[in-house]
This record gives sequence, C-alpha cells and structure tokens, in this order.
Amino acid sequence: MEYSKLGNTEIKVSELCFGLLPIGPLQANIPLNEGAYLITKALENGVNFFDTAEAYKTYEYITTASKGFSGEIIVASKSKASDYHGMENSIHDALDSLQRDYIDIFLLHAARATDKVFEERQDALRCLLNYKEKGFVRAIGISTHSVKVVEKASEINEIDVVYPLINLKGRGILDGGVNEMLEAIKKCATSGKGLYAMKALAGGNLVNELTEAISFVRNIEYMNSVSIGMINEQELDINLSIFNNQVISKEVLKNLTNSKKIHIFWRHCIKCGICIKTCPNNALELGTKSVVIDHNKCILCGYCSPVCPQFCIRML
Ligand code: SF4
Ligand code: SF4
Repeated sequence: MEYSKLGNTEIKVSELCFGLLPIGPLQANIPLNEGAYLITKALENGVNFFDTAEAYKTYEYITTASKGFSGEIIVASKSKASDYHGMENSIHDALDSLQRDYIDIFLLHAARATDKVFEERQDALRCLLNYKEKGFVRAIGISTHSVKVVEKASEINEIDVVYPLINLKGRGILDGGVNEMLEAIKKCATSGKGLYAMKALAGGNLVNELTEAISFVRNIEYMNSVSIGMINEQELDINLSIFNNQVISKEVLKNLTNSKKIHIFWRHCIKCGICIKTCPNNALELGTKSVVIDHNKCILCGYCSPVCPQFCIRML
C-alpha cells in the first residue's frame, strides 16, 4: 500500500480510501459489527483513510472499529450545512459521535452545487476555517461532482482538500466530461490542494471493468487516494489486492456483478418532486404517473431514498 501527503497538508493517507457510504443506511445498511469488522480488517491491512459524511450515518462503524486499534485513523467527513451554526453542529456531532478531539478533514458536502457554492455557503466555510484555527479540524475542503466547482476550488487559498467525482466513463460528472475534470484536478494539484477521487466505479456501475476503472483513477498523476465503497470481505480483499499491485484472477473478476438498482414504487408516489431536487445527477424526472428514473444516469448514490416522504424509493 502506498501513502502520500494530501497536497500541502501534513496528512498522509493510504492510496486506498475506504468509502463508507455503501455500508450505511442509505445503501446496504449492514449490521454494526459486520461494518466495524470490515473497517478493522482494512486498518490491519494498511488502509488508514476513511471517507464518510454526516448524511451517511456511518460514524458508529468507525467508532466501534477504532476501539481496538491503536494506529492512526484519518477520517474525512462532510456536511451539507450552509450557515455557520449548521456547520458548527455538524462538526460537534462528528467529534462526539467519533469520540475524537479533532476531525482530520471536513468538507462542504456539495455534490450538485454550482461554482457559486463558496459565496452561497460562505458562513459554513467561515465556520470550517474557525474550527481549523482552533484545532478541531486539520484540513478543510469540498466534495463535488462539478468541473466548475473543482476549478473554482483551485483558486481559493483556504481550501486544503478537494474530493472530485472522476471515473473512466465520466459517469456523474457535471459541467463537463472526463478531460475537463482532469484539467480542473490538475489546477487544484498545481495550487497545492490534496485530492482524493470519488466514484471511481460510478457507484458500482463499472464493476464489470473493475481493474481498468480503478487503474484509470490510480494513474491520475495528482490523485493522492481513491475512495471505494466496500460492503463485504470479498470486495475488501479484491481492493486490497489491487492497491497492493497483485493480480486478480479472471475467475474472481468474472463473478463480480453490480446487483444494486434504484426501484421506484410508483403507486405511492405523489409527484412532490423532492427526490428530483436531491438527485445529484439529474437521473429522476416526473413521468405521467410517478417519478421515473433513467438508470443510465443513476450513479447509485442513494441520496434520493431517505428524502421521499412516501418511502417509495429503495435501493435493492
Ligand atoms: S436516482 Fe437516486 S441513487 Fe440515482 S443518482 Fe439520483 S439520487 Fe443517486
Ligand atoms: S420524493 Fe417520493 S413521492 Fe416525491 S416525487 Fe419523489 S418518489 Fe414521488
């Protein structure tokens, strides 16, 4: 496992980052002890970097796993808060839930924001800066699917870390394609930002091209780490092998499938449109009888499911 410093920060992360969205209630919702076991096994195998978010509701998995581990655990979290107090609450919640004195990296959670995000959420950003000055956060930044936001982040001195969506097929990238995102990533790296990649497998959609898809992101010159969600031991073992440069047998790769899919239970849909506003990739629209999904656009983030007041969106 390789390690590198995230840009100009002093934070050294493993090349494989364990993305915690899929184990939590927005997706697989695996039992606490199973999730904690996976995290512990990842830690024992050299993974020191874990990406989570207030919205993922996965802090407890990390807290449980960290109880029996004495080494360093780098945690990145994020909040959708727009104002000072909202962000302050998010930081306190993370500190309390993770039972830590500081959070290594705290980001503006801004999947589908525009490049005005730094103005629109300036109070939340100010809060992150204050908490960094006070030592409760080591580095601050932004997570985004948008090329324009990555470009804008490269110009903002206070931003330490950028977490952009990038994958081989460009699936889920907003305001541009793969080449534009790579250019924006380069600008961030040139201005000293640490970078780790989001959705290298497009939420599982690229699992049939696993090794190519991961190689593509690993080979981006400026990428310090690649976040990958894992919900069972087989997935963890495969990713550990890949990031330790071991060859995965064709037999193992052949049996990998993405079984996840968003289902809309349309009879209960009241066409309120809340899910449409939440979807970061414009994969949902109003149809005649209910909301309908374009599976070619869906990146299986699971954000739409918890916002539906009728409980009619499920990832199965
Ligand atoms: S439809 Fe749901 S799971 Fe798919 S990209 Fe949109 S919010 Fe994410
Ligand atoms: S949030 Fe639920 S009820 Fe509202 S439009 Fe979406 S699927 Fe239908």
